[in-house]
Amino acid sequence: MSVVDAGTTPVDLEGLRAKYLEERDKRLRKDGIDQYIGTGGDFSYFAEDPYVERVERVPITRTCEVAIVGAGFGGILTAVKLKDAGIDDVLMIEKGGDFGGTWYWNRYPGLACDMKSYVYLPLLEETGYMPPRSYASGPEIRAHAERIVDHWSLRDKALFQTLVTRAEWIGASGRWRVSTDRGDVIEARYLVTANGPLSRPKLPGIPGIAGFRGHTFHTSRWDYAYTGGGPDGNLTGLKGKRVAIIGTGATGIQCIPHLAASADHLYVVQRTPSGVDIRQEVPTDPEWAASLKPGWQKEWIDNFNALTSGGAAERDLIEDGWTFLFKKIAAAAATASGPDAMLQILHAAEVADAEKMNEIRARIDAIVADPATAERLKPWYRRFCKRPVFHDGYLETFNRDNVTLLDTDGRGVEAVTETGIRVGGVEYEVDCIVFASGFEVGTDYIRRAGYDIVGRGGLSLQDKWSHRFSTFHGMHVHGFPNLFLHQNAQAALPANFCHGLAEGAKAIAAILGHAQALDRPVVEATQDAEDAWVAHCGEVAANLVPFFEQCTPGYYNLEGHLTQEAAQGFGYGAGAAAFFHLKDQWLADGRFAGLEFSTG
Ligand code: NDP
Repeated sequence: MSVVDAGTTPVDLEGLRAKYLEERDKRLRKDGIDQYIGTGGDFSYFAEDPYVERVERVPITRTCEVAIVGAGFGGILTAVKLKDAGIDDVLMIEKGGDFGGTWYWNRYPGLACDMKSYVYLPLLEETGYMPPRSYASGPEIRAHAERIVDHWSLRDKALFQTLVTRAEWIGASGRWRVSTDRGDVIEARYLVTANGPLSRPKLPGIPGIAGFRGHTFHTSRWDYAYTGGGPDGNLTGLKGKRVAIIGTGATGIQCIPHLAASADHLYVVQRTPSGVDIRQEVPTDPEWAASLKPGWQKEWIDNFNALTSGGAAERDLIEDGWTFLFKKIAAAAATASGPDAMLQILHAAEVADAEKMNEIRARIDAIVADPATAERLKPWYRRFCKRPVFHDGYLETFNRDNVTLLDTDGRGVEAVTETGIRVGGVEYEVDCIVFASGFEVGTDYIRRAGYDIVGRGGLSLQDKWSHRFSTFHGMHVHGFPNLFLHQNAQAALPANFCHGLAEGAKAIAAILGHAQALDRPVVEATQDAEDAWVAHCGEVAANLVPFFEQCTPGYYNLEGHLTQEAAQGFGYGAGAAAFFHLKDQWLADGRFAGLEFSTG
């Protein structure tokens, strides 16, 4: 059946569906997420901090009101909201050498956020900062994190280069005892975890990977001492070097143009192509900036969120590649009617998606000179099967004489040898292999966080969750009083990650304020509330599995092994807009139903 969307380009939905499944099947592997190697043990080199020297110090013992694990945007925004609520006795414990979280670790050349800066960067109005361009670079984002830290005088509230090793609830004192790899003991009434969801680098389990004798590193620990240059490129150390990069996800496509510009020869090893849409970065219009009224950023953030997660929005303030597709779906939804309205909406969504992907594939033909290379760069899956990416120079890289695309037709690298890589039976000698292979997803929370959390009666979170992942609002866990988790499972998973962190921080401050007002400092989710929330998450997750099982494997669908049971531990299935609405009503109600406040 060929379907024609009202008056526009014909799309062959049936043909596309068949092609998408064929490409998915090439990539499905029995080992799923187990195909990857963690960056521990022999591979811990890949996770070491290349940016600052380790500073030795004596262990500290101290108490504080709130201990926060992490000093990225999650930790910083929580400290801000708490300070605004009058809670200033806060300590952020951070394994990196400075503030920034993911923007501390990721410093690769070309690093930027592909979501508009006016939406992504938090607290713009409060800090009086207007980004100079429509998209912010990595260094600009990190500088903004520092700006927030200074604006709220949080600089002395962080303990850097310190890894939390264990957190234990001490019922007798009603406090968390947090231990670290520096021998510190920190006792805090409240514990907030803001470790980040994509924080533990992973490597592909390619045979021979440990035997490579050349230079190698992971993109989230960029080795400028080897490559030279900086975030803007100019990697002078790569002169005369043959480099291979493994991975063409959101990270790969941003740093590949810079590697290509500096290396003698670059091999781009591709297993699945990214869907690279146009970005169109422009300078901020000063007249537009001057015309903004107080409250504009909240309006923008809410508008972006509504348009990208199924909420209601009358207009599109953002007008970028994220909101475009959703607007089309929403328009179709507005006219759908009758008993098969949902089918009409799903159909309209599929047509809109097919048109967008056709456009993305046509753009490759228009930019990439060699037709065979262009063909190999084409993504064959629906737009939101993988992280949508936006770049205005990636495709052009493949017109350079010093760049070779090594497409593995979905199979990945065959082997790493002592001197290079083997792809399709051919060995390519290289001096350096860069792993743009992403971060652990789907492995145990505790493994990714790096420490266990032990609640009332010695109950470990690792053990509790080994039976079933269960939370209340994704943030509270029965048996773990005064623990607040910033994480996305059974909670919002918005495209704009900082937005989710800000909403979480707002909730934490409100709950602690309520506990103070009641003079009942111990807060815990009831078992009933947790059970009801888990059941509800299971219901709203039902639509995730049918969509993602059609998708090419990736971390969005646990490498093609997403089950109904696993999906209930994913982001809130009804979307971030619905989650924030529900949470806002819950906060406004003021009773904090599902939480028990006691004196301990
Ligand atoms: P990803 O997990 O998205 O990509 C990993 C890449 O490694 C994929 O291309 C994958 O191929 C490839 N790979 C894995 N195993 C092999 C193998 N055996 N052989 C060859 N290739 C292999 O990681 P990223 O670091 O790119 O992105 C992670 C996330 O970070 C993004 O999804 C996004 O959320 C965030 N990010 C955000 C940015 C922003 O602008 N805001 C910028 C950069 C990152 P395959 O696809 O076949 O699995």
